[in-house]
Amino acid sequence: MTVTRFAPSPTGYLHVGNLRTALFNYLIARKAGGTFILRLDDTDPERSKPEYAEAIQEDLTWLGITWDRIEKQSARLDRYAKAADELRARERFYEAFETPTELDLKRKKQLNMGKPPVYDRAALALSDAEKEALRAERGQGHWRFKLAHERIEWNDGILGDISIDAASVSDPVLIRGDGQVLYTLASVVDDTEMGVTHVVRGSDHVTNTATQIQIIEALGGTAPDFAHHSLLTGPQGEALSKRLGTLALRDLRKRGVEPMALLSLLARLGSADPVEMRGSMDELIDGFDLSRFGAAPTKFDVEDLFPLTARHIQTLPYEAVSDEISALGVPAAIAPNFWDVVRANITVKAEMADWWRIFQGEVEAVVEDADREFVTEALKLLPAHPYTSETWGAWTSAVKEATGRKGKGLFMPLRLALTGQAKGPDMSDVMPLLQKAPSL
Ligand code: GLU
Repeated sequence: MTVTRFAPSPTGYLHVGNLRTALFNYLIARKAGGTFILRLDDTDPERSKPEYAEAIQEDLTWLGITWDRIEKQSARLDRYAKAADELRARERFYEAFETPTELDLKRKKQLNMGKPPVYDRAALALSDAEKEALRAERGQGHWRFKLAHERIEWNDGILGDISIDAASVSDPVLIRGDGQVLYTLASVVDDTEMGVTHVVRGSDHVTNTATQIQIIEALGGTAPDFAHHSLLTGPQGEALSKRLGTLALRDLRKRGVEPMALLSLLARLGSADPVEMRGSMDELIDGFDLSRFGAAPTKFDVEDLFPLTARHIQTLPYEAVSDEISALGVPAAIAPNFWDVVRANITVKAEMADWWRIFQGEVEAVVEDADREFVTEALKLLPAHPYTSETWGAWTSAVKEATGRKGKGLFMPLRLALTGQAKGPDMSDVMPLLQKAPSL
């Protein structure tokens, strides 16, 4: 049985980078008919906030990413304490007392000598009496996992065969001096106890994975299959980390991005297959293949979401938008026609309101000085309101005859006078939707 999880820390809003991780894990579980767990990594009481935990669920729900179970690490602290005891019993856990400043100094010395900045395990040499003295002086120490110095290898679902020399990695701190359990320990305990079979996460976690494989094995568990996706960059390949804050899912939602546009893009971006606009989550699930993704950084341009959103909107039947149209105050009798006319002329749904204002005559007419006389004369020839789909053709023929104008010189000033827009739906379709006679 396939079990995957998405494990955000509720310390901020989800952004497109997080969504990529969530989506891959979700699609793998759904494609295999397995279980998808939403796990909140909230062991940091200072930075974790309930409002972020709430927002994460809201954002996933907006996208249609549903979870079978939700777990909170803060509710599982006893499990982590038990795992820590086991590691102690197996002599894979040791207490260390260096301050951050001391560790920093050690690292600088190593770097000066051209050595990799790996923790020197000085704490392993401390006698019980020395530890007692340090505890009296500095309080409880922090606890490090003692890596076995051998190569750690796995076949990564995206990166292929990986081999990391454990001696090149510092023994990871799993419990802080103040007793706070750190993510690395909590995560392996959860992955093991919850039967997680596949973990997909960002390539910034590759070194974590190496240490986690050893911790899982030290606890008698079996490591899941790991895959590390590339990190997103901006359109020019620039690091996105600083700008991810502006790519929060809720901001994209506010800007009118449609879930299927976002999902369709992220389910393909960075893979060997082209982006295809999908109509439903089921289609996305069917078309997903993790092995098609590459290791190279993936360029992401937020602007790509808007043409995709427009394309998605064009495919929507009236029933899918009827509530939103009715909320604008469009009378039910003309609402389906309204949708047919505007849907190819909007990028985001909010623009429906702009067209409705235009059709109600609430938009200032645009008339060039050179056209003022022409437009005034033309309006005198306009049949009485209300209009039909024949009105435009009949009217413009009459105007052409009276003024001698034709082509763009005839149509554009009239379109601008009636809608205030240089572009838009066919004017024959616009006329019947106009709620009152235009005036200048
Ligand atoms: N809370 C971790 C993070 O957001 C989870 C990483 C993982 O998937 O294990 O980076």
